[in-house]
Amino acid sequence: MRLKDRVVVVTGAGRGIGKATALELAREGAKVAVNDLFQEMIDEVVAEIKAQGQQAIAIKADVSQSEEVEQAAKLVLDRWGRVDILANVAGIYPPVPLVEMKEEQWDRVFAVNLKGTFNWTKAVLPTMIAQKGGSIVNIASVAGAVIAGPWVAPDLCHYAATKAGVLGFTRAAAMELAQHGIRVNAIAPGGIETEGTQAMAQSMGAPEEMMAEMGKAFEGVVPLKRFGRPIEIAKTVLFLASDDSSYITGQLIVVDGGFSVQ
Ligand code: NAP
Repeated sequence: MRLKDRVVVVTGAGRGIGKATALELAREGAKVAVNDLFQEMIDEVVAEIKAQGQQAIAIKADVSQSEEVEQAAKLVLDRWGRVDILANVAGIYPPVPLVEMKEEQWDRVFAVNLKGTFNWTKAVLPTMIAQKGGSIVNIASVAGAVIAGPWVAPDLCHYAATKAGVLGFTRAAAMELAQHGIRVNAIAPGGIETEGTQAMAQSMGAPEEMMAEMGKAFEGVVPLKRFGRPIEIAKTVLFLASDDSSYITGQLIVVDGGFSVQ
């Protein structure tokens, strides 16, 4: 077990990539704080982890609210007394054409995707500094952080901007925190089949079978000819969270089936 008794916080862990990450890190022996917005969702993930014979706690908090996140971090410390790994996964990607985009829509995407990453990092930092080590893994995206071209981010200018921001934050934080033995890295997923991507397809007025159609479209544009799976991002988080990556900091790992190298 690569994370035996390590204490981990996973944000956005109620479903999708965050849930897969929470389950995978728990399988590797971590004690997992499962953070998301809705109690029912996180309770289910906690129950699944406990059914695997591992420890988990449900932490309901909105990552965009610094006070809620500080309280959440206190709950983790009260329970386990340390934090070794933070996976900032929570993110939203509601499509809106730029010409129609309202200031509130822009601000909300920034508040969750970028400020949420800052809020949780800030909340666990004193503990990681006192422990003289830690690993922070931020989920960016090929959108904004890697690719150019028509598939970059249709109607997602706000989202692309936040993910470019997550990459900049990751690199700068890695430089600042290396002196404390804290590593900070990012992952840029390509298209991953999650509840979030399904909801996005539906919100764009797509037919029911949109996901199947998107899957087929991906066969044409992704060298590995398919959507990615949440577990494939979770496995990359595991690598960056664990000592297997002990000399890696400030880096971006692209997990996109080869999409961005064409
Ligand atoms: P998802 O299925 O929508 O899951 C994201 C989870 O985060 C949801 O449970 C969501 O809750 C939660 N969340 C949203 N706002 C939150 C907040 N303010 N505080 C706490 N939790 C919050 O999304 P996903 O597809 O797994 O994506 C996860 C991450 O990967 C995101 O950062 C996304 O940008 C990134 N990513 C995804 C893809 C992809 O193709 N799926 C590609 C590149 C990058 P609600 O259900 O209430 O919204």
